[in-house]
Amino acid sequence: MNIKNYINGKFEDPIHGAYIDNYNPSRGEIYGQTPNSSKEDVEKAYKSAAKAFPSWSNTTLDERSKILSKIADLILEKLEVLAAAESKDNGKPISLAKQIDIPRAASNFQFFANAITQFSSESHESVGLNAVNFTLRQPLGVVGCISPWNLPLYLFTWKIAPAIASGNCVVAKPSEITPMTAYLLGEICNEAGLPKGILNIVHGLGTSTGQAIVEHPNIKAISFTGGTKTGAHIARVAAPMFKKLSLELGGKNPNIIFADCDYDKMLATTIRSSFANQGQICLCGSRIFVEEKIYEKFKNDFIKKVAELKVGNPSEETTNIGAMVSKEHLEKVKRYIDIAEQENGKILFGGNKVEVRGSENGYYLQPTIIEVSDNNCRLNQEEIFGPVVTVMSFKTDEEVLQLANDVKYGLSATLWTNNLSRTMQFSKQLQTGIVWVNTWMLRDLRTTFGGAKESGVGREGGFEALRFFTEPKNICIEYE
Ligand code: NAD
Repeated sequence: MNIKNYINGKFEDPIHGAYIDNYNPSRGEIYGQTPNSSKEDVEKAYKSAAKAFPSWSNTTLDERSKILSKIADLILEKLEVLAAAESKDNGKPISLAKQIDIPRAASNFQFFANAITQFSSESHESVGLNAVNFTLRQPLGVVGCISPWNLPLYLFTWKIAPAIASGNCVVAKPSEITPMTAYLLGEICNEAGLPKGILNIVHGLGTSTGQAIVEHPNIKAISFTGGTKTGAHIARVAAPMFKKLSLELGGKNPNIIFADCDYDKMLATTIRSSFANQGQICLCGSRIFVEEKIYEKFKNDFIKKVAELKVGNPSEETTNIGAMVSKEHLEKVKRYIDIAEQENGKILFGGNKVEVRGSENGYYLQPTIIEVSDNNCRLNQEEIFGPVVTVMSFKTDEEVLQLANDVKYGLSATLWTNNLSRTMQFSKQLQTGIVWVNTWMLRDLRTTFGGAKESGVGREGGFEALRFFTEPKNICIEYE
């Protein structure tokens, strides 16, 4: 299926007619074409957004909220179609797309439909001065949203929903590797009655289309989720224009397991936090540290459970591990497995490509567990972003805290313990934006989301997202 840009409420071919191939990773074959939009396409999208802004920014909150809710309803109505499209485009198991990705995209719209009606400004009466101060929060204008391939519709809508809820108009670019559900979102927005020009979706490569969005002098802010290297580049390009930036970047998250935890819950959750979406989630706990007392038991049980996971065609409901998103990414992850030996790593399970019957050309990789003894190895320091975890034992709280923090990333950490004082000490001292205790990836959309260190700048979620997409203005009135 060939997809088109969505500009001013219409579906259009790119101005120069340039396209890139869109692959179905479960079969390793081309199944459509995606526009590779130029600077001119981005300009057209910008103009459409700029024209829509005066009217959209003046709609009542109630009006905006109703349209966002309608979009959420339509996403849920079309859940089966969207989930199938997401699974085909990305290689993720259909069950995951149905249970997590698509419902979450709907929740993103529903959440901000409600949140915008409760987002209020501060005001201060200056006692004794006959003056009152209040803060107006005004939309920025036209903003850019750029998202990655791992959670395509989930992350695309996580940016778009707060941007339009707070009165902005958007030029958005999904990943060129997984453009399909963003394309379908355009249809949904039209059906929901979103006035034309408020959301404009331009497809294409990061280095051309994405770069044109970041370089556009009148696009006031960039909300970006993707790799740390790309984030740093975007920051450099945007800095001379003083653009507002929200950067959600890579992770290398520790999963810290103490002997006093609820073992069965920990084991079941650790399977998910290691291999969900083929390990291609920025929040996956890819460095597993286990207290020495239970290390051998954990390794045996973990290997046994991982061996039960079914690697298979993502369209099958029983598949646990689907296809890697692309051939290039599969090769990159495989290269990390190949360096295990040089780093004195021991492959405890997996490590190989898998041939799935009927999908022999698909990009499949076994879930892989590698035992390491040195946290400074590349396997423990670099983001692999695949179904590969390392395991390592520790003896003391101090030791594991240092290991967990000794990395350039700081997105999330998971801690397994039933000791309250340890919970509080680690929660305070872990250098990450999120700490999960006795759980993983449990998200309440009111709470902040984002990373420390090289995992990003700024926070999404709840009112933080609405603050990002609005400019505060202090109004001070003196009266007689
Ligand atoms: P990527 O950085 O290659 O691409 C992300 C997006 O940026 C894509 O749409 C791409 O086309 C675009 N892009 C690339 N170069 C650009 C440029 N010069 N200017 C503007 N846009 C450009 O990342 P990816 O491979 O798509 O995604 C994987 C990465 O995303 C991982 O590092 C992962 O940890 C990270 N990620 C982070 C979060 C988070 O919330 N922190 C969530 C999901 C993924």
